[in-house]
Amino acid sequence: MDRRDFLKLIISATILTGTGVSTRKDIKEAYFYEKLDNKKVRCTNCPHECVLGPGETGFCRARKNIDGKLYSLAYGNPCAVHIDPIEKKPLFHFLPGTTAFSIATAGCNFRCKFCQNYQISQKSPDETFNQELSPEDIVQNVLYYRGKHNISSIAYTYTEPGIFYEYMIDTSEKAKKYGIKNIYHSNGYLNEKPLLRLTKYLDGANIDLKFFNEKTYQDMSMGHLEPVLETLKTLHRQGVHLEITNLVIPQVNDNFDEIKRMVKWIKSNLGRDIPIHFSRFFPTYKLTNLPPTPVSTVERARALALNMGMHYVYIGNVPAGHPGENTYCPKCKRTLIRRLGFMVVENNLVDGKCPYCGTPIEGVWG
Ligand code: SF4
Repeated sequence: MDRRDFLKLIISATILTGTGVSTRKDIKEAYFYEKLDNKKVRCTNCPHECVLGPGETGFCRARKNIDGKLYSLAYGNPCAVHIDPIEKKPLFHFLPGTTAFSIATAGCNFRCKFCQNYQISQKSPDETFNQELSPEDIVQNVLYYRGKHNISSIAYTYTEPGIFYEYMIDTSEKAKKYGIKNIYHSNGYLNEKPLLRLTKYLDGANIDLKFFNEKTYQDMSMGHLEPVLETLKTLHRQGVHLEITNLVIPQVNDNFDEIKRMVKWIKSNLGRDIPIHFSRFFPTYKLTNLPPTPVSTVERARALALNMGMHYVYIGNVPAGHPGENTYCPKCKRTLIRRLGFMVVENNLVDGKCPYCGTPIEGVWG
């Protein structure tokens, strides 16, 4: 197989799961952990702070204590590699119309009952079919395909990228040197120190704010709300372009008092310019007993957030061409970007401003 065929193979890779085949056993000593007595370690990468004895693996299934040292099992072995429209992340205010070279390894530090990628997120890297791609390989792929596919960025996505932290950091550091941007789509469950180090290389982030209720975070995802809110504040404070996704699930978080409290928090802590995406749920994984979210529910959530003064509110997983997918000027209300699903069909912005009234529009535009 020559280099071109090899690259084609990688680019066309789909999510391959559950075969029990791992093509490589890459491990890398973790960047954030403490050594304890009796060869135990405490992982300080995410708020779970797992304490692991020799031979034990963390809650995320991607970190292991080997003879008193903590190693990432998810380094250079992605199980998902795709080129996606940036709109699919979703990032609507970040270089619209470009694509992101998107990667994930197996594992996650949440247990979401509604996970759309549970075939890879709820596995260890030993249980998925993986590619062999070092950070350098990823960057070379992007450089090779950049022109042909209009790639602007590398996206760490699909599963929780915080659990392949070392792979993400090393890749993003290399990417930055070549002017390639780095995108983080995450559940926001990362400790502050690793997050601050990551923000040196990050250009954009979409964080899932799954619920605005501590109990639901515990029951549905086995996580906690407060660390996610801290992550949002840190990313914003560090100047990383930030968008927020809230998956609205019937009978779980389609309570409008909760949505109202969430929007109020976003507005007072992050400001009115943070784009919010209310996305429809479809039955999957452990929540196949629930119905899909009615389009009218996310429309109502969008109207509520706009009425509360948020400037950019979108709805997702709705029929393509819905007006709630478009970007409007918050001042003159004219259409700035018209979308059809993940496709940008019209972009009227001029130098990041509304061409009709000159209002600057929050985002990364060029
Ligand atoms: S990254 Fe994994 S091993 Fe580390 S604390 Fe979080 S769940 Fe535990």
